[in-house]
Formats: sequence, structure tokens, C-alpha cells
Amino acid sequence: MARYDLHRDLRDIDAPVILFDNVSKTYQTGTHAVNDISLEIRKGEFVFLVGSSGSGKSTMIKLMLRACKPSKGRVYVAGRDLGRLRRSQVSKFRRSIGVVFQDFRLLQDRTVYENVAFAQQVVETPSRVIKQEVPKMLAMVGLSDKLNAYPRELSGGEQQRVALARALVNHPVILLADEPTGNLDPKNSWEIMRLLEEVNRRGTTIVVVTHNREIVDSMQKRVVTINNGVIVRDEQKGGYAHAKN
Ligand code: ADP
Repeated sequence: MARYDLHRDLRDIDAPVILFDNVSKTYQTGTHAVNDISLEIRKGEFVFLVGSSGSGKSTMIKLMLRACKPSKGRVYVAGRDLGRLRRSQVSKFRRSIGVVFQDFRLLQDRTVYENVAFAQQVVETPSRVIKQEVPKMLAMVGLSDKLNAYPRELSGGEQQRVALARALVNHPVILLADEPTGNLDPKNSWEIMRLLEEVNRRGTTIVVVTHNREIVDSMQKRVVTINNGVIVRDEQKGGYAHAKN
């Protein structure tokens, strides 16, 4: 039951869901990947993070997941100061955030059903709840007829939909998507975006890193453009055109 309490607490917080407060990240190599970025993302927003390769987008996502720590400044996610999380709290925190990646990252030796169920098992959800939630989530992404298939038997678009169901099954307040359509054709890319929009409509805050100009231009969401580790543009209902460097 602790899981549900955690999520309710996070949802109640009225502060920005993601807050970068003068954040810099310099890797050990000396690369300044993020330079003094301040960024506020509010509950329920849908934000595209765009910029050329090497501009710092993945580093921003890693900072949000506490997969790396800032060299300067503070990152707050879902009401938590990530710099203050103890090591023992980090994995619990990460499980409270939904994440999808370009390469799907499914467990190859498990079925579609098992991949999604696994996300609930690790947070010790009762099996009674898992049996209800997993089929519901897979129905939402249109995969009710693939419960027993293995990832290798699915198309890229279907694999990404499984990854999305897995990311959402624990009802995270935030979904981070790092190039979710990078390996998909236009039709499947649009299908994923349509699902993300639906998830957002239901209240989940969404941050999508993408290079997909057509999608960014047509969806008319907030667009944060980053270049050389600095935010160079932040527009409501923006387009990708400005991301040209
Ligand atoms: P993007 O996601 O926009 O392509 P990244 O955040 O991956 O950009 O990278 C930003 C900069 O930081 C690049 O110059 C990249 O080479 C560098 N970088 C990324 N990860 C590391 C790392 N683990 N160690 C050293 N440098 C890194």
C-alpha cells in the first residue's frame, strides 16, 4: 500500500513537477553538457525538448531521473530535491517516474504481459491488482491480442507501445520519453504520439525529447530548445523550426 500513498503525495504537490534551478552539469571529461539552466515544468504540461545532437537533452533527462547529479544547482522532481535523495531512496524515486527510450528496452525472454507485470512486481503490487491492471494498460495501447507474444515477435511500433504500457502501469505523475519515435516509421510515430497525448489528457506530465520536426510542428505543444547546454528558446505552442542551429 505504501506505493499508493507515495503517488498520492506526489500528486498533491502544487509546486512545479520539474524544476531546474541554475543547473550545470560538467562531465569528468570536462564537457559542459548543461550550463546554468533554469526550467519550470508544471503539472499536466506536455513539453518537447529539442535541439541538435550533443546539445544536452539526454543529460537533462538523466538529471531528472537522478541518473547523474548536477555539478551546480538543484533539480526538483515531483516535489523532491534530488540532491537530497539518499542512495537507498533513488531506485524507489526512479520507479515513481515513467520512462521510455528509443530502443524500447524490453525483457526479451518475457512476454508482453510479463514485461508490463514486472514493473508492478518490483514495487510489490499485489498479484490481484497486477492481473487487473496489466490487461487494462495493454488494452489502452491497443495490444490486447498480443499478451503472450515475445518482443521479437512484435513490430517496432508494438514494442514501443509495450514499453509505454510498462512505463504507465504504476500511474506515474511524470512520463519522460527520450526519442520515443527514433526507431519508428511515421505511422507508428504518430500512433505513439497520439497515445502520449491521451495520457497527458488524463493528467500525466510529459516531457518528450525528439528530433521529429513534423511531429513537433504539428502538435503545437510547449517547445524548449536547447543548444550547447543552454535554453535558447521556450515557447508555448512552439515549432521545431527554431531548433535549427
Ligand atoms: P543530446 O542528448 O542533446 O545529444 P547529451 O546530453 O547526450 O546531448 O550530450 C551533451 C554533451 O555531453 C555532448 O558533448 C556529449 O558528448 C557529452 N556527454 C554526454 N554524456 C557524457 C558522459 N557520460 N561523459 C562525458 N561526456 C558526455
